[in-house]
Amino acid sequence: MRKTSVGILGATGTVGQRFIQLMEGHPWFKVTALGASERSAGKSYKEAVAGRWKLSADIPEYARDMQVEECKSGMDCDLVFGALDSSVAGPIETEFAEEGYFVVSNSKNHRFDKNVPLMSAEVNPEHLALLERQKTRGKIITNSNCTIMGITITFKALMDAFGLEQAAVFSMQAISGAGYPGIPSLDILGNVVPFISGEEEKTETEPLKILGKLTENGIENADIKITAHCNRVPVTDGHTVCVSVKLRDEATVEEITRTMSRFKGEPQKLNLPSAPKKAIVVRKEPDRPQARLDLMTGRGMTTTVGRIREDNLLDFKYATLSHNTMRGAAGAALLNAELIKAKGLI
Ligand code: NAP
Repeated sequence: MRKTSVGILGATGTVGQRFIQLMEGHPWFKVTALGASERSAGKSYKEAVAGRWKLSADIPEYARDMQVEECKSGMDCDLVFGALDSSVAGPIETEFAEEGYFVVSNSKNHRFDKNVPLMSAEVNPEHLALLERQKTRGKIITNSNCTIMGITITFKALMDAFGLEQAAVFSMQAISGAGYPGIPSLDILGNVVPFISGEEEKTETEPLKILGKLTENGIENADIKITAHCNRVPVTDGHTVCVSVKLRDEATVEEITRTMSRFKGEPQKLNLPSAPKKAIVVRKEPDRPQARLDLMTGRGMTTTVGRIREDNLLDFKYATLSHNTMRGAAGAALLNAELIKAKGLI
């Protein structure tokens, strides 16, 4: 298979760095261009991220001396991964799509555009049919917000098996979710902040589009009521979310455990390079999942679930953990890109 040439917009940021790491030696994609702001443009990648490379392995060799450009079309690639600050991502991604690039974005700007799929590769691959309705030469697909990526996979498993009517969601979100430099240490060390701007709105609405039905008029949102409390906690990586759900049909803890453990999406069926073997791993220990212990399950692409039990208010409750910059951002975008390549859409 010929490798697709890709650019990374926002290559110097938290999510961009994860892309740089994940693309090393990728069998289907080759990074040929890096974009960031005018502050970084003109520098080599290693100069641009000097002092702010935050991953626990060195900058991959292939990227160190690549020159960072401004995010303007004309980049030497066919597909761009978007990891731009949302204050600038919208028009830049539109320009790239108009110029014929395939845009795979992490930013919120186009998530609710009528003809743009809001994708989670295991959950709604059929939404890729929306791409035919985009009028631009290139196309845009988006990932969801990092907090909902893991829980939406569990919702899909529950919805298909038992019907899902309501969910109450309580997040404990990692610091890296706010990008770099993010939250000042004095605000977060030894503390919990019960507010993340815009996060509860995204958590309550984005799953409805992802779990929605493809119709002639676009996506019909899933008929699920979600309420969310979003909190920032002093954890470096990994969003933990506690969930209570009300199901349409009767179920037992054992049936839910079995349903989640067996859940498979197209990435697993197609054996995509970044697909975890298991989309969901259910832990039986009473004190799991934990970010420190379970974050890298499935190379950071598996959603770990634990503490499935009955709920006094709704029907059942459980805890989930997913890696916010892997499964919730760069890894999810890469999986989406692998899916469109496997389907011959690029
Ligand atoms: P970040 O660390 O703040 O990085 C932002 C990136 O945008 C940097 O590469 C920066 O380049 C670039 N940028 C800023 N202003 C620009 C401009 N005017 N023109 C071109 N590039 C510009 O943010 P992040 O956490 O990686 O998040 C990136 C996107 O992914 C955001 O939309 C965010 O909401 C979304 N997201 C993040 C996470 C997460 O866990 N962090 C998860 C899911 C989705 P310079 O270095 O040159 O300034």
